[in-house]
Amino acid sequence: MLPVRPAFVAGNWKMNGALAANAALLGKLRMELPECRVAEVAVLPPFPYLDQTARLLSGSTISLGAQDVSRHAPGAYTGEVAAAMLVDLGCRYVLVGHSERRALHGETDAIVAEKFGAAWAAGMTPILCLGETLEERQADATLDVVFRQLEAALALHGVAAFANAVLAYEPVWAIGTGLSATPEAAQAVHQALRQRVAKDDLAVAADLRIIYGGSVRADNAAALFAQPDIDGALVGGAALDADAFLAICRAVNP
Ligand code: PEP
Repeated sequence: MLPVRPAFVAGNWKMNGALAANAALLGKLRMELPECRVAEVAVLPPFPYLDQTARLLSGSTISLGAQDVSRHAPGAYTGEVAAAMLVDLGCRYVLVGHSERRALHGETDAIVAEKFGAAWAAGMTPILCLGETLEERQADATLDVVFRQLEAALALHGVAAFANAVLAYEPVWAIGTGLSATPEAAQAVHQALRQRVAKDDLAVAADLRIIYGGSVRADNAAALFAQPDIDGALVGGAALDADAFLAICRAVNP
């Protein structure tokens, strides 16, 4: 019997936000989140709003994270943001390998693995995003794809690095489409991922939080969270609406 892992819900704002809208959203989350029994909630605003968000969340139970990180140490990399800078701003989490970064910015498994290492070495918890496209799912290649994506980071950093990491299974076809994976289909992938990590280290696998992302909403969250290997959610669109995000948080351990 696996030990119960603390549930984790992270809100990815993507390239959205504005000073006034952020303040209103964060004010409402801050006020109402203590009622939710979710173990941990994080918000992941765009880089320019990290400092504002850190100040508005100061003293709250909500963690701060970023959506991307450079694989490089500080230096001549115009436009990049180093892991140490995110730590300076109070980031505890950072997404690596979100499908939009992979598809639109040419991030390969090798680059994502390097980003994972940069985040981890700086003391943050990387949230490693994995997921197949619709074509890959139709070709029955889902597990091949997510194992290949996982393997790149496992091979470079070893399983011990996953003691301080989160996996986010996000089928690409479910992101922003309204078409969530069924709880059973998502569970099958989460279970396979945990079993793959368990081959290298049983204890790390048992404690590893594997969250699901892809059109999570208030009305499908509880059924997803009821699956034994789904430990929370990476939420995109619904993270911009305080009521929708709070409803997802409340769906943990209802
Ligand atoms: C995401 O951006 O990671 C995501 C899961 O988006 P959405 O919830 O909108 O599908």
